[in-house]
This record gives sequence, structure tokens and C-alpha cells, in this order.
Amino acid sequence: MLRQCAWCLRLMDSVGEPTSSLPVAKIYEASHGMCRACGNLWLEQVLQDTEKQAALQSLPMKADLTCLY
Ligand SMILES: [Zn+2]
Repeated sequence: MLRQCAWCLRLMDSVGEPTSSLPVAKIYEASHGMCRACGNLWLEQVLQDTEKQAALQSLPMKADLTCLY
């Protein structure tokens, strides 16, 4: 199945590795998730935030990620 990162819109393979260097138009048939590049960026942000808040247990659910931006 085609997978696409919902954040950077690049296509990715089954393990989340981006397979295109450029974003492509949103493919509605594709299953959307987060590629590793975006996952790492997100993780860094979350870690920075949680360091401030010291609230590791209350990480936002994946579905709420878009609220951060
Ligand atoms: Zn991405």
C-alpha cells in the first residue's frame, strides 16, 4: 500500500523511510502517517517540551499532533 507522510507529504516505505526527496500532492488513497524525519523532529520537540514541563506521562496522542502546529 502506498504510504505518505501527512506532515511533509513525501512518500515513504513501510518502515517510514522517505522514498522521495520532494513532497508530492496529497494522495487520498495512500495511508498517511509520519515519516522518520518528521518523527525525529517531533520527538525532539516533545522532549524539549517535556523537559520544561517534566510531564513525560502526558505525551499527546498521535491524533492530536496537528494541534501542535
Ligand atoms: Zn515527513
